[in-house]
Amino acid sequence: MARRANPIPHSSAGEVLRLVRDGDAETRADVARLTGLSRSAVAARIDELVDAGLLAERADGVSTGGRPPIRLELNPQGGLVLAASLGSSRGQLAVCDLTGRVLASRETRMAAQGGPDAVLTGLPDWIDTMLAEEGFDPARVRGVGVAVPGPVELDTGRAAGAPTLPGWDGVAIAPTLQRRLPVPVYVDNDVNVMALGEYRARADAGDLVFVKASTGIGAGIVADGKVYRGALGAAGEIGHIPVAGGTGVRCWCGNVDCLEVLASGRHLIETLAAHGARFPDGREVSSVRDVVALAAAGQPEAVRLVRESGRMLGEVLASVVNVLNPAVVVLGGDLADAGDPLLAGVREVVYRRSTAVATRELRIVPSVLGEAAGLTGCAFMALDQILSPDSVDTTLARLAGGRALPSVNRALPA
Ligand SMILES: [Zn+2]
Repeated sequence: MARRANPIPHSSAGEVLRLVRDGDAETRADVARLTGLSRSAVAARIDELVDAGLLAERADGVSTGGRPPIRLELNPQGGLVLAASLGSSRGQLAVCDLTGRVLASRETRMAAQGGPDAVLTGLPDWIDTMLAEEGFDPARVRGVGVAVPGPVELDTGRAAGAPTLPGWDGVAIAPTLQRRLPVPVYVDNDVNVMALGEYRARADAGDLVFVKASTGIGAGIVADGKVYRGALGAAGEIGHIPVAGGTGVRCWCGNVDCLEVLASGRHLIETLAAHGARFPDGREVSSVRDVVALAAAGQPEAVRLVRESGRMLGEVLASVVNVLNPAVVVLGGDLADAGDPLLAGVREVVYRRSTAVATRELRIVPSVLGEAAGLTGCAFMALDQILSPDSVDTTLARLAGGRALPSVNRALPA
């Protein structure tokens, strides 16, 4: 994290928490130096945050001789956030602490293709059931992050319509859930959410492009620590960039020879099925996971097709790398589980076709979170909002006004 060079005048308690959460401040002395606040003003803000259950002080800092300094940290037990990552055909739900750590998770058949009514009425029930079964107090939940496999208007939390989400166009996802859940609900596109999760999971991140290669293909961009969405939220639609070598196949978007048409998991399933590719037990290929399993088993056609997909993806990413100059390109999604054949195809083309400067320190790597990228990203989407300086200051003002938030756990762990 970049060190803040100048003191922040009149830093609030919320800003002090941000310094700690970002890793910029570890001690009271750090806070004083970074904010220019007096010792007593720092103490007052830290007391407020500790009383609210948001900050913890631990006597295990690194000593430079003498008593070890008290280290400040975000209190993981200061509340819970819920993460709901809804795919087209399956979904995941998790309970996370304030550092984004997954405390409990489960998979479900609840998914976007079930239609908005089933999901929007079912999700709150599903949340209630999970909290009860896992023994979590619902009053400790501070926010919910939801990912859906299609574009979302960030300001309104409405689905923005895509063939991948039939029946969802214009559905007010966040406002509808908000009526059933007594805490803030945040909704975004799954690829953006996964990019955020992957960024937070990597200590070394820097600007990052996350590619979800699955049934379809899309990308999420994190620049300066934030998801880059573009003017209308349509940034990262790499699946609809045409690639060379196609035969004029029309895509649902209206263009021909889109990357998604020629290199996605859907294309691989259809091609392998058309070639009569089967598992040794005679089973046909019906999912992206099947494609990956067949390639892992060394089936020549599957390996060839996955590698060819990697090259086409590399062709598009070569341009993306030239435009954005990311520090890291992360390959995620079910198809990325194919590992080397896909990764090798991507690297081969990107390192050959992108500029020397853009690739000098570029890393092209598999996702570290794998299946958990969506859940982790959902948790951070909610945490970044509820732990923002403004939200924290509002919470503290409410506490000072005597209306304690039920979600705050004041009992700090030893
Ligand atoms: Zn297209």
